Amino acid sequence: MINIQRLSEHIEQLSRIGRTADGGIDRFSYTDHDIKANELVAQYMKAAGLNVHYDAVGNLIGSDEGTEDLPAIVLGSHIDTVPNGGKFDGSLGVLVAIEVIHSFKEQGIEFRHPVKVIAFRDEEGTRFGFGMIGSRAVAGTLTTADLQRMDEDGITIEQAIANCGLEKKSLSSTRLNHVKCYLEVHIEQGKVLEAKGAAVGNVTGIAGPLWLKFQLTGLAEHAGTTPMNQRQDALVGASLIIAEVEKMTKRYNSSVATVGKLIVKPNGVNVIPGEVEWTIDMRDIDEAQRDQLEREIKQYAEAVARERQLGLHVIELQRVEPVHCDKILQALIKESIQEIGETVVSLPSGAGHDAMQFKDCFPVGMIFVRSKDGISHNPKEFTAEEDMLKAAQVLYKTMVKLDR
Ligand SMILES: [Zn+2]
Repeated sequence: MINIQRLSEHIEQLSRIGRTADGGIDRFSYTDHDIKANELVAQYMKAAGLNVHYDAVGNLIGSDEGTEDLPAIVLGSHIDTVPNGGKFDGSLGVLVAIEVIHSFKEQGIEFRHPVKVIAFRDEEGTRFGFGMIGSRAVAGTLTTADLQRMDEDGITIEQAIANCGLEKKSLSSTRLNHVKCYLEVHIEQGKVLEAKGAAVGNVTGIAGPLWLKFQLTGLAEHAGTTPMNQRQDALVGASLIIAEVEKMTKRYNSSVATVGKLIVKPNGVNVIPGEVEWTIDMRDIDEAQRDQLEREIKQYAEAVARERQLGLHVIELQRVEPVHCDKILQALIKESIQEIGETVVSLPSGAGHDAMQFKDCFPVGMIFVRSKDGISHNPKEFTAEEDMLKAAQVLYKTMVKLDR
């Protein structure tokens, strides 16, 4: 059924476009590498029997009409990368979907439902610092103002699209209506499946990030002349809070929280830190739990600030709602995992994916594939051929059930 050799070759061929000196990939949206990659994937789509076109933002869409007037089954992922990224992130999902369709076609099986395979443009957000441009457009949430965002060279998304030679169409034409569901295969980018000895997994939901910026203000004074009991050291206060963030988060089983950025002012060897600023990235697919953790962290920070006579200011940078995968789709995926003789593992996604853009549009489901050592966004990113085959088989079997 699934031609694993063909799938592996496609992964390999696509990975050569934008290859860096140390074996990674630089493939940023609307660049020459990206255009070439889309052209190659378009060939794979055509060979699989799909009709190919680009929408207004350059999403590559391969379509099969289906034999009946029913809502479409949409499959997809992305083929752009982070700087020096790996060859499986995104690409695997697009190429597995094409392989599955190709397999159906080779057996002469026709779909009742229309089927679309989409390679979404710019999921990673590397070039414009925005991301998920293609999937936002399909969800109908991308605005004309968004298209004015610029890259480092001052080129707007709108200009970048035009420079690709894409036909100018209205943004409203990108929105997909009459969709039964969206399914995405993606590498896990974590270590859960590997730890459980599972090749594939059913995704329960996508954790929404909550980003907070903390500012703690004390007094920048002389490090030599200010006695220890007369200080308002903002960095000591920040350290207490940051250490507690880890402790508190560990008490919640599905939450993660990370302090990834820290700015100390004036940042001098002989000056007591007068001001410290740091960020917290908090994620959970249970929104209530994430909000509870947020309250606890803030309360602790307030207590530290009070005790140490420091000024505290918390700014919300972004608050994204978690997305729950559709229960019916999850059941079909789990059944398919069982059918290929694998144990069923269900897990949330800590990373964001195109699928999360469709939260208010149509049901979404995701199939994760094991990542070696959990490594991703790195040239060392690796997924074994037999795991890719299993992912394709699970998607195939899920498609059979969905098209009934
Ligand atoms: Zn990805």
